[in-house]
Amino acid sequence: MQFTEEQIWQFLSEVQDPEVPVLNILELGIVREVLIKNDEVEVVVTPTYSGCPATSMINMSIRLKLIEKGIKNVKLTNRLSPAWTTDWMTAGAKEKLKAYGIAPPVYSKTNQDDLFAKPDEVPCPHCGSGHTKLVSQFGSTACKALYQCEDCREPFDYFKCH
Ligand SMILES: [Zn+2]
Repeated sequence: MQFTEEQIWQFLSEVQDPEVPVLNILELGIVREVLIKNDEVEVVVTPTYSGCPATSMINMSIRLKLIEKGIKNVKLTNRLSPAWTTDWMTAGAKEKLKAYGIAPPVYSKTNQDDLFAKPDEVPCPHCGSGHTKLVSQFGSTACKALYQCEDCREPFDYFKCH
């Protein structure tokens, strides 16, 4: 293998999340491991949501990116356990989501007693108001909920917690 593990991580940082193009898959926290065995590169990915349609698209983007860099033997492994949580997103990723007009997750799974609890307040990413209401459990994708701000009236996507 002519590449180091560090270089592979660098290549992976060029793969964007298909649902939120301002984030790369490292910021999303879904790449768990990079393993180099002889000529093969194995990338271990934990999908954000099992059954999320973006997962297969992400797998394909990883494969294409590494092929583009000259790595032909790519093995993708999906690791479902432990499950991805929004805690794995970098702090910078949450800021980028907000700048993109998507409210970042409010609760972290580890602080949440009830996993199905709804956040009391999802601040509007446009004006910062806390007066927002849930419009639909499903926003532009299954992984997001649609909210509307009561103050500036702007609808926005909320990146749901796990
Ligand atoms: Zn607002």
